[in-house]
Amino acid sequence: MAKPKIALYWAASCGGCDVAVLDTNEKILDIASIADIVFWPIAVDFKYHHVEAMEDGVIDLCLFNGALRNSEQEKIAKLLRAKSKVMVAFGACACFGGIPALANFTNRDEIFERAYIEAPSNDNASGTLPQTLTKVNEGELELPEFFDTVSNLDQVVVVEYFMPGCPPPVDLILKVVDAFATGQLPPAGSVIASDKTLCDECDRTKEEKKITRIYRPHEIIPDPKKCLLEQGIICCGPATRGGCGLRCIKANMPCRGCFGPPLGVIDQGAKMLSALTSTYEAKEEEEIARLLSEVVDPAGTFYRFSMAKSLLRRKRPVPVEVGAK
Ligand code: SF4
Ligand code: SF4
Ligand code: SF4
Repeated sequence: MAKPKIALYWAASCGGCDVAVLDTNEKILDIASIADIVFWPIAVDFKYHHVEAMEDGVIDLCLFNGALRNSEQEKIAKLLRAKSKVMVAFGACACFGGIPALANFTNRDEIFERAYIEAPSNDNASGTLPQTLTKVNEGELELPEFFDTVSNLDQVVVVEYFMPGCPPPVDLILKVVDAFATGQLPPAGSVIASDKTLCDECDRTKEEKKITRIYRPHEIIPDPKKCLLEQGIICCGPATRGGCGLRCIKANMPCRGCFGPPLGVIDQGAKMLSALTSTYEAKEEEEIARLLSEVVDPAGTFYRFSMAKSLLRRKRPVPVEVGAK
């Protein structure tokens, strides 16, 4: 009997999700023994045209990591969707936009201006910016279109499963591979993690203690037995789905939210903001504003992994006044 076919792909990704798959160590051989890896740009030399030549639906499982930032990534997401029976958004970037989607607080023009004009390391006196098509003597050179807005995978194609984490932990990866191998994948639409919040799984002591100031992790050595949030460190546990094995909490570091919003929560950032302000001692508006001003990077703190999938989605363009120059 022919082995099932697996594909893996990285879009706007740091590569960490692919490394997480390699971190399965010798288990990677188990994966290779139960399935044929038919596409995996980081490890196997198959080209796009090999995938294009496949029949639709011939790939049994596609693990797709990274957000969608340009037209090439969008094209491959659609191609792999057509060729795959089961599509998994693998990692925080594919599930919710992740770190790349923090760029939704700006836009393409501002990014190009910074990267190609302003950055001190540039040597670009002519102010050349990337073009999708450039004519040279030898012909035309093509670059993918850089989108204004970063998307997560299910904003572009239908996705069967979501495996959060930055990157997903090895035990969750093996769980999915086992479920796939034994035909016991959960119902489509499932998130491969817990339905509870991280706080529900955390056994640190909670005393309903109110806070009067916020500490950044390097400003304090927290008590390893007590709730970090109640010690004034922003821990995103109340607004984050459990299932990671409390990786950061066990290292005495706060959760930064890489498992995304828990079941029933649409906007992780708004949920965390509400959880944080409910721990404030302050009642007066002025005092609340002072405490909030101690959050050094609100956008990056509350929407670090979930900007694309949030209610905000992106920064709104400033409306241009009629007649303004
Ligand atoms: S989820 Fe994390 S590890 Fe995976 S590609 Fe995104 S930033 Fe990298
Ligand atoms: S806020 Fe963080 S430290 Fe406190 S209970 Fe929740 S996960 Fe644990
Ligand atoms: S503790 Fe939070 S940030 Fe750390 S791995 Fe778990 S979900 Fe991700």
